[in-house]
Amino acid sequence: MTQQEILSIDNKHIWHPYTSASRETDNLVVKSARGVFLELEDGSKVIDGMSSWWSTIHGYNVPELNKAIQNQLDKMAHVMFGGITHQPAAELTKLLLQIVPKGLEHVFYSDSGSVAVEVSMKMALQYWYSKGQNSKNRFITVRNGYHGDTWHDMSVCDPVTGMHSIFNNRLSPQIFLPAPQSKFDGPLLRGEIDEVEKSLKVHQDEIAAFILEPIVQGAGGMRFYHPEYLKAIKHLCKKYNILLIADEIATGFGRTGKLFACEYAQITPDIMCVGKALTGGYLSFAATFCSADVAMTISSGSPGVFMHGPTFMGNPLACATAIASIKLLLGKQWQDDIKRIEKHLKETLPQLEELDAVKEVRVLGAIGVVEMKNNVDMALIQKELLDRGIWLRPFGKLIYTMPPFVISQEELNQLTNAMCDGIRAYISS
Ligand SMILES: *Cc1c(COP(=O)(O)O)cnc(C)c1O
Repeated sequence: MTQQEILSIDNKHIWHPYTSASRETDNLVVKSARGVFLELEDGSKVIDGMSSWWSTIHGYNVPELNKAIQNQLDKMAHVMFGGITHQPAAELTKLLLQIVPKGLEHVFYSDSGSVAVEVSMKMALQYWYSKGQNSKNRFITVRNGYHGDTWHDMSVCDPVTGMHSIFNNRLSPQIFLPAPQSKFDGPLLRGEIDEVEKSLKVHQDEIAAFILEPIVQGAGGMRFYHPEYLKAIKHLCKKYNILLIADEIATGFGRTGKLFACEYAQITPDIMCVGKALTGGYLSFAATFCSADVAMTISSGSPGVFMHGPTFMGNPLACATAIASIKLLLGKQWQDDIKRIEKHLKETLPQLEELDAVKEVRVLGAIGVVEMKNNVDMALIQKELLDRGIWLRPFGKLIYTMPPFVISQEELNQLTNAMCDGIRAYISS
């Protein structure tokens, strides 16, 4: 097919994330990808500064991952998980349980982050159901959160800025606290912890769980908050008999500088979701972990089983790829990579704060965020960035990058030069 033929079918018939069927979009036609580069139809290459939405931490076409998936393919691509198990699932589980926060002992595999969050919420509801406390059936969360696009997930996404506001009056009404204001490296604002406590105290008999993204709020605003805030939430949840669900789907596997962002607060949530980088960005795969207390309570009550079971649960190809991805990560000095990227982002992006149009620049781990004062025109800014050889996908007021951990110094230079020059050009256009 020619590029024109691809785009013609694409524009006529294919939905993309958050797109219109009637408005033409010039989607980038990617032919192949290698290292940190997306290779386009015309032979040119652009740096993927998004890691395909947090997932391709090792870059593209990674020999170790290709080999793992090929080896598994020769044995079996898939087999149902109901009544059947296999070595890739056992091996992956053994590996994951060694690295997730201590105290998480059971895992439920699913096909995507959104489903992992649905599973976490069902676990919380079934936990209280098993205890005969059926009134504990709501969730509390913070504003600016993002937890996925499926039904119950939408109810805990930010109700105004969370992309799902048109569904609000169909969703279960949850309890929203203000987004954490204590910045990651700023002072802890005790007052906001007191406000959280007040709310938990009032609603404790109806709340099943507190769900939030640890330390980094991703698609709901790219905000970084204080580890002590998370620690306080953990403490208060325990005090008021509320489960804590940590959504590590964006933060998991090193992105923030810790393997899991919960480590910043040295806490173990009752339930934890991972996805995105789990398979190094190769396959759609996710996992929901829970404590022995959660698992055993669900299993001892009525109906005595956890009521969920996806067709592609525990897919062997995905398990094998995840094993290879985690081994690859742990086998190298990944912390040094994150520190190197963080240092570079901190040395380069803050110069943009001198621009009137820029509200704030913030960096944590391998995440660099430029928050503008006004919403950006995505097509215009993307063109400026693509002209300079990089791929980003800004949203709202945010232009941000979370590059593959393997990005070289030279590629990093190109990435941040393009961001700085591209943003300046966009502002003056
Ligand atoms: C991306 C994301 C999800 C949803 O994952 P999908 O794989 O897109 O369904 C949920 N929570 C967080 C924090 C995410 O970043």
